[in-house]
Amino acid sequence: MNIINPATAEIITTVQEDSRSALEEKYLVLKAEQISWSKKSLLERLAVVHRFYDLLEADQERLAEVLTSEVGKPLQQSRNEINGARTRIQWMMNNAEKYLSEEWVTDTEELKEKISYDPLGVVCNISAWNYPYLVGVNVFVPALIAGNTVLYKPSEYATLTGLEIERLWRKAGLPDGAFQIAVGGKSVGEELLAMDFDGYFFTGSYKTGKHIYERVALKMVPCQLELGGKDPLYVADDVNDVAAVAAGTADGAFYNNGQSCCSVERIYVHEQVYEGYLDAFLKEVQSWKQGKPTEEGVYIAALTRKEQLAVLEAQVADALAKGALLLTGGKRGVGPGYYFEPTVLSNVTNGMKVMQEESFGPIIGIMKVQDDNEAIALMQDTEYGLTAAVYSSNGDRAQKILSQIDSGSGYWNCCDRVSAGLPWSGRKHSGIGATLSHQGLRAFTKTRAWHMRG
Ligand code: NAD
Repeated sequence: MNIINPATAEIITTVQEDSRSALEEKYLVLKAEQISWSKKSLLERLAVVHRFYDLLEADQERLAEVLTSEVGKPLQQSRNEINGARTRIQWMMNNAEKYLSEEWVTDTEELKEKISYDPLGVVCNISAWNYPYLVGVNVFVPALIAGNTVLYKPSEYATLTGLEIERLWRKAGLPDGAFQIAVGGKSVGEELLAMDFDGYFFTGSYKTGKHIYERVALKMVPCQLELGGKDPLYVADDVNDVAAVAAGTADGAFYNNGQSCCSVERIYVHEQVYEGYLDAFLKEVQSWKQGKPTEEGVYIAALTRKEQLAVLEAQVADALAKGALLLTGGKRGVGPGYYFEPTVLSNVTNGMKVMQEESFGPIIGIMKVQDDNEAIALMQDTEYGLTAAVYSSNGDRAQKILSQIDSGSGYWNCCDRVSAGLPWSGRKHSGIGATLSHQGLRAFTKTRAWHMRG
């Protein structure tokens, strides 16, 4: 399998994809280790996780360079991602004991009742490339903390990072049998679905997630899906500083080249502030430096996947054919890498692809609305339900609007953010189950209810 640098379209290296028999061997190693890993005390397991956490910091620069080389994001954004992953791990380490220890429910002479949290066993994590550290640690860190062993399949677009993660776990002292990596793409993922894991945890597209859910259903084991989004944002007429809101929300739409599951993907603006917002938004977008991800100060670098360039072109063409106005961008940047100009469209409608299909790129549609009710109806008009954001100086108004949107996260005066203490979950086509927060720690366990008379 060739590993391509999306910034240059050159082959960085070639790696060997895992064969069926190699995967089965890895599974057996994980199975053999699982009981002894789960028998270690929580504190012993946390000590290993702590060393992994320290190594992420010690090796940050090298890890950021590797990540940038294969996914094309600006080097500073790779560093930010590794720091963000450490913040999440820290929360998990601080809260593991609280949420994974036994809980007493009844403690009387006649009856004692408690809940215990047992590991699932050997779990399979099929992952995405856009934030391999962030979406990876959401799964494999709490899974290991809870006493599971993990087969981690990084995306084929983030294989080198997956290998780095495996190296760090070894260096941290994790037994080889507690964490194994599956190298490869779709066909390797399919092989994993044919095997007998005790839980499947997937991050990726709706299309693949639905397929995985169908396949895993027959096994009767837990299956969690973190999928895509078409996340809407509404700017109400009572915002205090339209220009600041425009700059902040532009970042929410274009950070990581728009390749975030919770990127702002559609913007609705109250007619009273529409013109000012649009001007300031455009000014912000046009101020960004585009170029190679390793160049200082670059904000918009290469897209990870070449195929996405055609998707974005098709969205622009569809929007223009249906009456949208192209305010900036709209075409590929100068190659040979996979570049696309940051693109802003106005005069859009919800009937356009750019307002319905996940773009996962540097493109945004901005639409004028008359009032909150129109905004709510348009925001709700989607198959997805990951996040929704409202900007307003009135918190009650914002919460009233957000509570009418069917999404796993609601943002008031912020967007495109994830917090380790809050459940990360999608509704509708955006997913099943949650990572992060106490729910995300317990997602890798099965409960046992103890009824004890004695
Ligand atoms: P993808 O669905 O193409 O691939 C994800 C993973 O699934 C990869 O490891 C891939 O090799 C594997 N895979 C592909 N086909 C498979 C099959 N038939 N059987 C088993 N495994 C298979 O997604 P992607 O392009 O890697 O990621 C982008 C998508 O992920 C976007 O839709 C994005 O919104 C979503 N995402 C969601 C979250 C979240 O937390 N909700 C986070 C990051 C990314």
